[in-house]
Amino acid sequence: MTAVPVTLRRTAPGRRPESRAADELRELAQIAGPELELASAEDIVEWAVGTFGARFCITSSMTDSVLAHLASRIAPGIDLVFLDTGLHFVETIGTRDAVEATLPVTVRTVIPALSVAEQDEAYGRDLYARDPDLCCALRKVAPLTDALDGYDAWATGMRREESRSRVIAPVVGWDAAKGKVKVSPLARWRRADVEAYIAEHGVLVNPLVQDGYPSIGCRTCTRRVEVGEDARAGRWSGSAKTECGIHA
Ligand code: SF4
Repeated sequence: MTAVPVTLRRTAPGRRPESRAADELRELAQIAGPELELASAEDIVEWAVGTFGARFCITSSMTDSVLAHLASRIAPGIDLVFLDTGLHFVETIGTRDAVEATLPVTVRTVIPALSVAEQDEAYGRDLYARDPDLCCALRKVAPLTDALDGYDAWATGMRREESRSRVIAPVVGWDAAKGKVKVSPLARWRRADVEAYIAEHGVLVNPLVQDGYPSIGCRTCTRRVEVGEDARAGRWSGSAKTECGIHA
């Protein structure tokens, strides 16, 4: 395992530290990003846990549970935020339940302010088909922003090779939109690295992955991908939209 090069203020295990000011968090991210660029995913998570303690959480779309597995080895009981948009595949909810039952993580399922029926009433049916940016803003971005209120840093499983919009994702960066440090321990991983980790550790994977869905979002906005397509080509297929806005 690569030694962690960043020596920053560490938090005692189990202690919930005070929230840091935005300027300090931004500075932390600016220092740690370059220094951890070549660190292993385990070292990046270890740095985040040591720096932010209980003010660090991970997130998961439940396409697989690689990040959840990896982070829970380092910090058993770590908070895992899952956005339940109300429009997921049943397999995704099943994967969430299996992760909660089998891994030492604290799953926090977050739901939008409006149910799907309430959103239909307020904005009309099938908003995702007419204005997916607004739909994502209501069902993903706003709930996640609220859920991250008690944290200084959050982790995602995003990888640079997934799409052109992600090729410059730092392993640790400043998320100006949320005022948080954003940690992407798997940013440098290739698909082969993910598969090797899954095989080595017997990690839970959403069964839809084997059915042609390498990237899984809401069932209304996700299709199977063809051979040779980007992993995220099945997301909002047929429109110019490539991201939900969480990673803005
Ligand atoms: S992925 Fe589609 S259905 Fe889900 S929140 Fe975004 S636009 Fe709405």
